[in-house]
Amino acid sequence: VLGGRGGEGSRILVFVRLRPMGKKEKDSGARCCVRIVNKRDVYLTELGNENDYLRLKRIRGRHFTFDASFPESTTQLEVYSTTTAELVEAVLQGRNGSVFCYGATGAGKTHTMLGSVESPGVMVLAIKDLFNKIRQRSFDGNHVVHLSYLEVYNESVRDLLSPGRPLVLREDKQGIVASGLTQYRAYSTDEVMSLLQQGNRNRTTEPTRANETSSRSHAILQVVVEYHVKDASDNIVNRIGKLSLIDLAGSERALATDQRTLRSLEGANINKSLLALSSCINALVEGKKHIPYRNSKLTQLLKDSLGGACNTVMIANVSPSNLSFGETQNTLHWADRAKEI
Ligand code: ADP
Ligand code: MG
Repeated sequence: VLGGRGGEGSRILVFVRLRPMGKKEKDSGARCCVRIVNKRDVYLTELGNENDYLRLKRIRGRHFTFDASFPESTTQLEVYSTTTAELVEAVLQGRNGSVFCYGATGAGKTHTMLGSVESPGVMVLAIKDLFNKIRQRSFDGNHVVHLSYLEVYNESVRDLLSPGRPLVLREDKQGIVASGLTQYRAYSTDEVMSLLQQGNRNRTTEPTRANETSSRSHAILQVVVEYHVKDASDNIVNRIGKLSLIDLAGSERALATDQRTLRSLEGANINKSLLALSSCINALVEGKKHIPYRNSKLTQLLKDSLGGACNTVMIANVSPSNLSFGETQNTLHWADRAKEI
């Protein structure tokens, strides 16, 4: 179905997921301004006030196309199979990959990534699939799976499985690691959903809105699969594959897509890690040699999972409501740019 990843070269696959209209939105008279056709094409319409003839004449529309676009009826499993199943396969072969959910607060990122007990999202489905695949193939039982779940908030890194002091990033022979981060040895899927939900509750909350997860926190689940194989001369070789699943901070305050705007925003009260991620993706898009991973905690942590021979998947989440038109437009522009790699 998909265009394929073209050999060893890197490419970002970009998807859009439209969430259903919420009850509150319906009640407040919101109308749908996003339409998905043929599971690929996204049409965005700026709805005017029909009573206003002049505005009606100025209605703007835009069309985007992505590797796949998911209408509101799409199930969690469909999203998982289309976007992430291939990456789970790759991790079992010792490769790295990452899946990001990008979009404004309320657009459906956490639903897509974590989901709920009744409707588990990509994180849970990926782990379930991983264990199934390990079991089915009955590799010689030597696959070991470790999970870590961490948060980048305000450029400090925290362990979501064992909250406490901020963790220090250091570089060792395996790459950049967070010192003291819990490596949870997972044996089955059952324990994982509650573990992740508990972790999600440990995400930093906005001081002004108790109980509400901050829109400025990035949550990163890293699934590391370690195993060994025998090489041609019967030596045992260790292999490691790592899958990073990232529920990004809300994009509403980091809408810049070009370098000049990015620079002018530096120092402003915006999310440094989200901007740095945009810069890295821009650099990858432009085929630059130097990718500025060092500019933020998020990009340092993902250095070995982004670009190069890694598989990278971006899921842009959007709301259907005309009240979110501006945010949706920005998200679609951002996603449109990311797919140019
Ligand atoms: P975000 O993490 O981007 O801020 P959420 O994932 O928390 O947004 O979604 C906002 C609300 O919309 C939540 O109540 C969530 O359950 C609901 N929602 C999001 N996506 C879907 C979907 N595909 N189907 C049903 N409900 C959804
Ligand atoms: Mg969220």
